[in-house]
Amino acid sequence: MGRSVLVTGGNRGIGLAIAKAFAAQGDQVAVTHRSPVEGLPGELLPVQCDVTDTAAVDAAFSEVEDKHGPVQVLVSNAGINDDGLLMRMSEESFTRVVDANLTAAYRVAKRASRGMLKAKSGRMVFVSSVVGLSGSAGQVNYAASKAGLVGLARSVARELGSRGITANVVAPGFVDTDMTRALSDARRAEIIGQVPLGRYASPEEVAATVTWLGSEAAGYITGAVIPVDGGLGMGH
Ligand code: NDP
Repeated sequence: MGRSVLVTGGNRGIGLAIAKAFAAQGDQVAVTHRSPVEGLPGELLPVQCDVTDTAAVDAAFSEVEDKHGPVQVLVSNAGINDDGLLMRMSEESFTRVVDANLTAAYRVAKRASRGMLKAKSGRMVFVSSVVGLSGSAGQVNYAASKAGLVGLARSVARELGSRGITANVVAPGFVDTDMTRALSDARRAEIIGQVPLGRYASPEEVAATVTWLGSEAAGYITGAVIPVDGGLGMGH
């Protein structure tokens, strides 16, 4: 029987690629989704959950525990953006993005730590972004939330390391998903011009790093921030 893996926002984009990669290894994988899911591979267990709702997070974990056992590998991936220049960014936009991207990571990490502490082992992976370290004009809310994940993960790494729990961050560059398909062609071309590898990442390329961080082979890695960004963030 494979490990119990939970991927938030695993119904599409990077999260779906991560979920499929764990399932392909034989793990039992649950994915949270907000919107109704269609066409999800049969091996993935869909669990309805808005990660901004603490009670929903608790209920989702209980459902996963019932079906797959306590979560052994947590991937906090769900995220949103709501771009705009600082002068025009509303406080509502700032707090909404931080709630979905950072406070939600705290919610799921806290809930997952319960079972992991009992088991004296566990893996947490937080999906951040290259812009969390480099900053990004028009993304004060998003970049702040993604930078916050680094402090969160490193604090978890220090608190729970002695219990065999690792906490790491993956910082993708630009990945071909709905989130970046919303950008204009001109902006996409501009971004690609700044990436040493000259292209977007596929969701599967991010998934490969996340599954590796969840593997036995990465057992001595904690508090790390691993870029998967085609070289975009070099030096940060
Ligand atoms: P998508 O927009 O394609 O998917 C976002 C996912 O997050 C969806 O599954 C969505 O669920 C889920 N989600 C958003 N808000 C909530 C919520 N409140 N509760 C539950 N689920 C929620 O994004 P990507 O796949 O591109 O991004 C995945 C992660 O990777 C995000 O954290 C993003 O910031 C990060 N990232 C993406 C990059 C990129 O270039 N694409 C680059 C760097 C980082 P639903 O379908 O219900 O909306």
